[in-house]
Amino acid sequence: MLTLITGGAGYIASVVALSLLENGYNIVIFDNLENGHREIIDALKKIEAKGKVVDFMEGDLREQSDISAAFSKHKIDIVLHFAAHIQVEESTQNPQKYYINNVCGSMNLLGAMLANSVDKIVFSSTAAIYGEPESVPIDENHRLAPINPYGWSKFIVEKILNDYEAAYGLKSVSLRYFNVAGADRHTRIGEWHEPETHLIPNILAAINNQERIFQIYGDNFNTRDGTCLRDYVNVEDLADAHVFAMQYLLDGGTSDCFNIGTDEGYTVKEVLDACEKITQKKIEKIIVKRRAGDSAMLVADSQKARKILNWKPKRSLEDSISSAYKWYLKAVK
Ligand code: UDP
Repeated sequence: MLTLITGGAGYIASVVALSLLENGYNIVIFDNLENGHREIIDALKKIEAKGKVVDFMEGDLREQSDISAAFSKHKIDIVLHFAAHIQVEESTQNPQKYYINNVCGSMNLLGAMLANSVDKIVFSSTAAIYGEPESVPIDENHRLAPINPYGWSKFIVEKILNDYEAAYGLKSVSLRYFNVAGADRHTRIGEWHEPETHLIPNILAAINNQERIFQIYGDNFNTRDGTCLRDYVNVEDLADAHVFAMQYLLDGGTSDCFNIGTDEGYTVKEVLDACEKITQKKIEKIIVKRRAGDSAMLVADSQKARKILNWKPKRSLEDSISSAYKWYLKAVK
């Protein structure tokens, strides 16, 4: 059994890779190292457990020949597809970058899968495909209406996957992540983006750098304290969801989509308070204008994943902040 992980040198994919190694899966990692880190590949190779990192292939999904080479070299059984650009605001400024990488890159991957008769894929989708929700919590039947090119790029790939199932029998699970947080519990791998745009790492950076003031992007949203409300799912819980989704497809499960969240929402101010409590440090903060593309409220109804995949989140927001802080102290200089 061999699993191909696209984007495997990035934050979420590498925590999932670690979990697969611990669960006895062999993996091949494909990453162009544009946002991923070679150090993460080195760390994964060092912590091979019941499964092994069979290969790391540096390549770009935008180049058909790069991804085709991965399938020529290895007999892949299933694909976990993480590789994507992920910054909402940047996607509003440079949609071309997002559609080419996220949509055309995915099509190249799917083309290589079809050419090599690989018919199972777990796709990293996003709560951003719901746009500004009509009501929360959001279940999978909620209307899809992205409000930024990042969300649209994921929406389009979900649509392509549906059409490929109908025409070619390709089986897919789309996991619609809500906000992912935390690090590996043994502090081997954690969140590392350059530039960092995400909430919890930005708060932790402000705690540790007196010169840096944490910016709250808007306090005039229609939420309980005016700041955006999100559902923060722990990255190791998310890794479990991938292991279950893979197993579901390998056991003959039909194509489907699942929300992956905790079904609880916290505002930016509440996350700040929790960070101050856990780190026992005061955080300098300032309210600035809204960031383009942000929805006021995104909270999952993840009952479908709980029922069909047998998944459930086990870790709290506090657990995620604690592991993120440990990782921050160890890894970020
Ligand atoms: N946010 C913020 N300041 C920051 C980073 C994020 O106020 O420095 C807010 C952002 O507007 C959003 C929430 O925190 O409402 C979560 O943002 P993040 O970028 O972590 O994830 P997203 O919801 O965009 O996927």
